Amino acid sequence: MFDRTLETLGGERLLGHQWRRLRAMAEELLASNQFVARRWRAAGVGSVEDLRGWDDFRRLPLTTKAELVDDQASNPPFGTNRTYALERYVRVHQTSGTSGSPLRWLDTQESWEWWARCWGFVLRGAGVGPADRVFFPFSFGLFIGFWAGFEGARALGALAIPGGGQDSATRLAWMEALGATVLVCTPSYALYLAEVARGRGIDPAKLPVRITVHAGEPGAGIPAVRARIEDGWGARAFDHGGMTEMGAYGYECAEQAGLHVNESEFILEVIDPVTAAPARDGELVLTNLGRVGSPVVRYRTGDHVRLAAAPCPCGRTFSRLEGGILGRLDDMLIVRGVNVYRSRSSGRESSTRSASWSKWAMRRPRPDCKKRCGRASASGSRWRRCRCVACRDTS
Ligand SMILES: [Zn+2]
Repeated sequence: MFDRTLETLGGERLLGHQWRRLRAMAEELLASNQFVARRWRAAGVGSVEDLRGWDDFRRLPLTTKAELVDDQASNPPFGTNRTYALERYVRVHQTSGTSGSPLRWLDTQESWEWWARCWGFVLRGAGVGPADRVFFPFSFGLFIGFWAGFEGARALGALAIPGGGQDSATRLAWMEALGATVLVCTPSYALYLAEVARGRGIDPAKLPVRITVHAGEPGAGIPAVRARIEDGWGARAFDHGGMTEMGAYGYECAEQAGLHVNESEFILEVIDPVTAAPARDGELVLTNLGRVGSPVVRYRTGDHVRLAAAPCPCGRTFSRLEGGILGRLDDMLIVRGVNVYRSRSSGRESSTRSASWSKWAMRRPRPDCKKRCGRASASGSRWRRCRCVACRDTS
């Protein structure tokens, strides 16, 4: 574990840890963060004394991405969600903008170190240690993803190898020459890089890579995709959950039984996306506790998750999201008053509450798809949802 004390706190002690951090952060936010203070005052929280317990926390307004985007559009270029003067910030990153306008996000020296620390949980969870050589085939542009992972590897004492500015063949040569033992990239790039290797007569499974860690897109948590990565690289593949505006909040342990949420650095809530009432199966809502300069409190991620009921055999007491991120709530439908979630390409239905879902789950595979589409089959006049990556990306 990265921090055994925190990762096994659990129960009241964990809540106490979160509460102390929340109160300390709230004091700073109410004093100097316009975006947060304005919204909290409107909800009746004008001073930290108004936060007496978790019921008060749950009365704080939920935050949506649209609100953050609007704030930046009205107050360009960085918006009003800043706790300090601009001089105090040392990094700026930007979301990809795949689900709307991109968000810019600032970090202070302290919050950048916090990012590295959060990635420490991710990397240690996957079994990465100081003796590892971690390769990052990543463009190192405005997207935050692997910048933070790179910092995390360095902070962990591993050898962090930047793999930007090269084509895939050169990257493979570097990995071979430097003896990379860990590969950190998107799942689709891991699959592509393995193909490039084979095309050049290199069996990627014979390289010393023993662990792959993935982010940036769903995939590594989907059994079929994970199996392809693991077969290709002869390594264990790990998923992790993170967002530019939130941080690296989720990670897998050796049990690979869903994503643990790092509750020492984030407050986890799951809500019914329609009523906002607490739920076991619903929308992931997060609050980060270590990014005081640019925080997000009670953030509606738009991700569909389900809390695991049983504790993880690994011994961590952090909550687990069963099956990781199950899908996007943009894809949720309300059928006869029941929330029906469109699951991601696992082919699994995230909600069994309505059989009506099956008609949306059927989809004809792409004609140019190869062997994975062999699993797609006609059911009456309908096609089962195709599981292959290519089909998922175009569905
Ligand atoms: Zn575990």
